[in-house]
Amino acid sequence: MTTDKTTVFVSGATGFIALHVVDDLLRAGYKVIGSGRSQEKNDGLLKKFNNPNLSMEIVEDIAAPNAFDKAFEKRGKEIRVVLHIASPVHFNTTDLEKDLLIPAVNGTKSILEAIKKYAADTVEKVVITSSVAALASPVDMKDTSFVVTEESWNKDTWESCQANAISAYCGSKKFAEKTAWDFLKENQSSIKFTLSTINPGFVFGPQLFADTLRNGINSSSAVIAELVRSKLGDKFYNYSGPFIDVRDVSKAHLLAFENPECAGQRLFLCEDVFCSQEALDILNEEFPQLKGKIATGNPGSGPSFLKKNCCKCDNCKTKKLLGFEFYKFRDCIVDTASQLLEVENEN
Ligand code: NDP
Repeated sequence: MTTDKTTVFVSGATGFIALHVVDDLLRAGYKVIGSGRSQEKNDGLLKKFNNPNLSMEIVEDIAAPNAFDKAFEKRGKEIRVVLHIASPVHFNTTDLEKDLLIPAVNGTKSILEAIKKYAADTVEKVVITSSVAALASPVDMKDTSFVVTEESWNKDTWESCQANAISAYCGSKKFAEKTAWDFLKENQSSIKFTLSTINPGFVFGPQLFADTLRNGINSSSAVIAELVRSKLGDKFYNYSGPFIDVRDVSKAHLLAFENPECAGQRLFLCEDVFCSQEALDILNEEFPQLKGKIATGNPGSGPSFLKKNCCKCDNCKTKKLLGFEFYKFRDCIVDTASQLLEVENEN
């Protein structure tokens, strides 16, 4: 596939991960059509990038039937690659089906159906942003004997995942990804694209545009922001699981369609496992302005906590396919926190 002027459609272009992807695509010479939920959001993004190779379409709600039809009817013939990144990533709901499961599944279904209807002859590659949540349930992720690999599947059912918002979010990623692989199998004769999925662990790292932090923060970055904003003596929830830097997640989205060997693969993005205690230790060690002011927990206890509370990860296959080194946890946390502090100091 030639880079020059190939057009890539990016759903949910206004999100934390997608902004990095759009930036990497534009830097690599691709034309990008992004989707955002409103004219206002789209105009804001166009202004920020100020790049003639970027245009935007409105897709207001991916939960709605045929949500992507209008955009693909209009632009489908230009598109060679589709990166489906949009999906709800929040936990503040009690209607788990309506707010998490249905939008994730319907969004995947409707973007694939829109390709089939309007761009079956032109779209060659589809990359779906799935998650480690499709590989392992929250219970498995805490099971020290469980090894997450590219072959794993979250075992929760549609019903069992609705025990709480976190497992429902994980279920939403599993059922959305499954929808995509099933669609591929059922539509072999009427489409020509190959499918890859990106399955990242917790994604940390700096925002592409620091000032987006002024309008709130995405869910995974909030895990680190909470620690940066904690007070000495505060208790904190010790999150644990696989992690990856957003800059690596973005790079992997491009390789997923550029490298023919990634076709048909699930790319499990994990540099290592982490816990919040380890992030706190780094914040206390690296930022003199935070030391003595933020929570400390039990310094140095991260590795033993992980040994008792976290799954293992084996993503050799993905690392080999991608062939680049991932950001280390310390660098990722330092870069995340530096940006947060910079923005907070400006206020
Ligand atoms: P963000 O919340 O920053 O981005 C999500 C994007 O999806 C936003 O553009 C959002 O638009 C859009 N979106 C959500 N719901 C709808 C809807 N109903 N209709 C239309 N658009 C919608 O999260 P991330 O960047 O972190 O996540 C991006 C993808 O990566 C998701 O698929 C997520 O599941 C996956 N992922 C994220 C991980 C993480 O740790 N961050 C880990 C593993 C996977 P708006 O903001 O306008 O609502």
